[in-house]
Amino acid sequence: MPQDTDRLTSGDETGTQEAGAEPGWQRKIIHIDMDAFYASVEQRDNPELRGKPVAVGGSRERGVVAAASYEARKFGVRSAMPSITAKKRCPDLIFVKPRFDVSESVSRQIRKIFAEYTHVIEPLSLDEAYLDVTENLKGIATATEIAMEIRARIRAETNLTASAGVSYNKFLAKLASDHRKPDDLFVITPKMGPAFVENLPVGKFRGVGPATTAKMNKLGIKTGRDLRAQSMAFLQQHFGKAGAFYYWIARGVDDRPVRANRVRKSVGAENTFATDLFTFEAARDALSPIIDKVWRHCERAASLHPPGTAAGSGRCWSPR
Ligand SMILES: [Mg+2]
Repeated sequence: MPQDTDRLTSGDETGTQEAGAEPGWQRKIIHIDMDAFYASVEQRDNPELRGKPVAVGGSRERGVVAAASYEARKFGVRSAMPSITAKKRCPDLIFVKPRFDVSESVSRQIRKIFAEYTHVIEPLSLDEAYLDVTENLKGIATATEIAMEIRARIRAETNLTASAGVSYNKFLAKLASDHRKPDDLFVITPKMGPAFVENLPVGKFRGVGPATTAKMNKLGIKTGRDLRAQSMAFLQQHFGKAGAFYYWIARGVDDRPVRANRVRKSVGAENTFATDLFTFEAARDALSPIIDKVWRHCERAASLHPPGTAAGSGRCWSPR
């Protein structure tokens, strides 16, 4: 449970109207994110890994860290980091192979919990989702109470912890869940939103990756406050279509709805090679089994969900 309960009962419940908030209705959005998901699942099921730096992924020379436990993160181990770098930073790092069947079944468990509160659920990955609880199925008065209940149930039913962010839009709900991670809950009210954004470095914003952060920094844009000082025209000139998104998030505004049953737009497969490939022929030969793998997935999906059905509308295109 959150230790600082003050901020949950301060009376500034998200979604309620208050002085200074915009007129009209406001969404109530919860972003739920499991803590160090793949690594926590392994630590849960193997007591010997608890309290130790664990990396899920391949330990081989060309392996990549898929997820790191909080103990490993203290050493600077991060997901997507080459395993060899991770091992240098943390010599005692324990590598564990991922068990996707287990993580998928935990994912189904948490989605079942979400579904008791709302039908408007947008999963972002196995362990992360946005929930629109403006209308909730249990008639619970506040989004904060719902988030507290969901966190408690996830802990009770999966023996794993999740962080939750509560706010009036997706952008802020995500920032909120990150704010007190792990195993906590944070609320950004309409009154807090703009100031919260102002004080953050732009690299913390979802949708602003390392390349965009570098570009913004070069233009003198380091924080939300700097971003807010730019005109719409300036941001569109430098960032194209994304410029308008940046303009509004700098003001704590994000109108994107939570989209249930989002159609899958892409599917991929990958392999990390033991040695670099330098010629076209070598790359072509190595690509062939990967393309086959993607194509097999598409064929399987197409037979399960024929085009025209909700889940089948993401059509596959033959790579050959
Ligand atoms: Mg997570």
